[in-house]
Amino acid sequence: MEIIRSSRRSVAIQVRPDGSLVVRAPYALPETEIRAAVERHRGWIERTRRHLALQQTAPTLTQQELRQLIAQAKAALPPLVSGWAGRLGVRCTAIGVRSPRTRWGSCSSRGSLSFNCLLMLCPPEVLEYVVVHELCHRKHMDHSPAFWAEVERALPQYRAQRDWLKQHGPAILRRLPEKSGG
Ligand SMILES: [Zn+2]
Repeated sequence: MEIIRSSRRSVAIQVRPDGSLVVRAPYALPETEIRAAVERHRGWIERTRRHLALQQTAPTLTQQELRQLIAQAKAALPPLVSGWAGRLGVRCTAIGVRSPRTRWGSCSSRGSLSFNCLLMLCPPEVLEYVVVHELCHRKHMDHSPAFWAEVERALPQYRAQRDWLKQHGPAILRRLPEKSGG
């Protein structure tokens, strides 16, 4: 554990990518109190370490694995999309499956939806959230409060899914091979 002292007023703990700790602390704070602060955050530190380890060990997908994920997504999405389109009262004109590096789904103004095949590596409720999210863009082509209200009506727990994607999504997107058609 490296301790960096400065004129700051509070203790800040950081986990480096290699799992080691950096603790920033005020000049006058005794080391016993710094160690006590680290102990209080032990749970968070261990979770962060596990998360970092997972990110680093998830291997790049092979082209064959990528093709399998696309095939899985092409089978899984149509029934899910048509079910939710019916419940939401919107129409979807086409469903595409791709492997873009930066997004999980998109919706064109003509009602053509596109999904990232890496959703197959996410929990099913996350896949469902992305489907509902894109279908709600058939009503609101923006991320306005009215849009989010629509999502919440359909999936009252959607924030947990959105947070999951924010937290774990980047590591999953990093598994895409260099040459994958967007
Ligand atoms: Zn959106």
